[in-house]
Amino acid sequence: MKETKEFQTESKQLLNLMINSIYTNKEIFLRELISNASDAIDKYKYLQLTSEGKLAVKDYEIYLKVDKGNRTLTIKDNGIGMSHDDLVNSLGTIASSGSKEFLKKYKEAKDSEDLNIIGQFGVGFYSAFMVADKIEVLTKTVDDKAYKFSSDGVKEYTIEEDNKEDTGTEIKLFLKEDKEDEDYSKFLEYYTLEDLVKRYSDYIRYPIKLDEVTKTPKKDEKGEEIKDEFDEVVETKTLNSMIPLWKKNKKDVTDEEMEKFYKDKFSDYEKPFTSLFLNVDGIVKYNALIFIPSHAPYNLYSENYEKGLDLYSKGIFVKEKCKELVPDYLKFVKGLVDSDDFDLNISREMLQSSPLLRRIEDNIEKKILDKLKEIKNNDYDKYLEFFKTFGDHFKYAIYQTYGAKKEQLQDLLVFNALHNEKPISFKDYVSNMKEDQKYIYYASGKSLDYIKMLPQIEKYKKDGIEVLLLDKKIDEFAIMMMGDYDKKEFKNIASEESNELSKEEKDNLDILIAENKRILDDIKEGLNGKVDEVTFSSKLVDSPVCITTKNGLSLNMENTLNEEARENNFTDDVKATKVLEINPNHELFKAFDAIKDNDEEIKLYGSILYDEALMLEGYEVEDKKEFITKLNKLMLKSLK
Ligand code: ADP
Repeated sequence: MKETKEFQTESKQLLNLMINSIYTNKEIFLRELISNASDAIDKYKYLQLTSEGKLAVKDYEIYLKVDKGNRTLTIKDNGIGMSHDDLVNSLGTIASSGSKEFLKKYKEAKDSEDLNIIGQFGVGFYSAFMVADKIEVLTKTVDDKAYKFSSDGVKEYTIEEDNKEDTGTEIKLFLKEDKEDEDYSKFLEYYTLEDLVKRYSDYIRYPIKLDEVTKTPKKDEKGEEIKDEFDEVVETKTLNSMIPLWKKNKKDVTDEEMEKFYKDKFSDYEKPFTSLFLNVDGIVKYNALIFIPSHAPYNLYSENYEKGLDLYSKGIFVKEKCKELVPDYLKFVKGLVDSDDFDLNISREMLQSSPLLRRIEDNIEKKILDKLKEIKNNDYDKYLEFFKTFGDHFKYAIYQTYGAKKEQLQDLLVFNALHNEKPISFKDYVSNMKEDQKYIYYASGKSLDYIKMLPQIEKYKKDGIEVLLLDKKIDEFAIMMMGDYDKKEFKNIASEESNELSKEEKDNLDILIAENKRILDDIKEGLNGKVDEVTFSSKLVDSPVCITTKNGLSLNMENTLNEEARENNFTDDVKATKVLEINPNHELFKAFDAIKDNDEEIKLYGSILYDEALMLEGYEVEDKKEFITKLNKLMLKSLK
């Protein structure tokens, strides 16, 4: 007798919603059906194990059968099957979960740990309606007759008795007709199915089989090929590898295996910089394979780059590039996570941030940083390679979190240094500080060459005091967010605050300033607002002038911020508080004595000194035409 039943209203709605919106890529239907089949075998296996020999052990397998003539694809398993009631409750009602009930039923069973049941929400099966306009399910359980369920997934379904020997389920999909932009026939092709299984279901623990048919032209007695006649050779292939690398014992996995896996899975021609095999058995249990590439992914800095780790649950692929699993600053990291603790809910495609994922993320972040610290301690040159490629991400992380990531990341930063040949860390810096040195000194600029030419650095060169050279735009901003390291404050050598003068030196400087007040005032007036102060310097050795800044914002930061503003079409009106410092011991200044009563001359020479300071520090002269006019004027004067 054939029964016809209507789907419940909410099921119809859900069905419609799902088919039309949730799953963006239709091909995942295969993964869903294979995962159901694998669940069904898990369940049978469990029953068999607890049946005290009443049930037979089988060669568990999932078979894909293709019938091109009838445009059908059948997914066949020899698992637990469905009874009449199961069909009504599981397939007739969406959003119910047979798996869940099964689990509940056997919760007390001591062996229940053996059960790997994926899927806590009953929409997986229905994803098949994205590619099929009719589905027939032939199924048989241990203690019920065989039934055929049939539906077009719109309004109703039918159930009738049928014949089937063995327990298990065969799901036959009648594929939709191809449309202009939708190719359904591809699901009848060997290579498509092979590809999908490899991609999504490689690690299912039961063999997923498919017949490969090879046609060779028939030959006559003389060995000549007969036109349009073929010999068909059918070979049954197992498409999946069945053992996930990450489920293996960590000790048994070699570096070579890890490398091969990385290259295959993430299509990289180069081996990874480093890899981690995580087998975490804490509050959250998970296995993970994590890789740091040896070069930046080609699209890392493009807007459509997607960070994340692939997510598996019980060996079943759930989602590619799950962004909740790695913080932004580690977006270059590749890998996968497999945890038994996931409830796979309605949209495996859109697994939203869950507390569980957060926990795993924190844990993975920590493991990666620990590994990097280990490399930094044991193989510094190798670490420097890594830092050259990805180090800026750490600085951005400190800056963007307003210093919240400082503790975690500060010891992973390295910077070029004035005296040390290789880049050094803050720890290196602090352990080599002079006895009476209070600050960690740094200098910033457009490039290392420019920084090394800074007039202010002369004193540090002479005195052998180490200075960190910050040539990346982000450097100074990150350091500003950090504020200090190991309670030692950072000081920009080009900031006025870096002047550490004794009382006597300060008094002498004050006298000098008072004596030359007219000159200093004239220069300031001549610069017409370009600087906020003109004074004498205590830190210059060979150079006649330099520009220092006050109140935290350096020339380099001013420049970076304005550049960024211009790029984004904002007004570039960030202004550092600038002080023009003159070297009172330089012969150029001593020569000012000759013009000390001529205000106009003082202004002219003063403005040239300012331009010179700008150039020395690696910046453009603001008005080149005016500069040349002044220079020509002076040349004429001395040549006449
Ligand atoms: P989910 O697997 O997420 O629970 P599905 O809609 O895919 O949701 O399946 C609903 C239920 O139908 C399953 O929980 C299971 O009880 C039953 N089912 C589906 N496929 C099979 C199968 N091949 N063998 C046995 N039972 C199945």
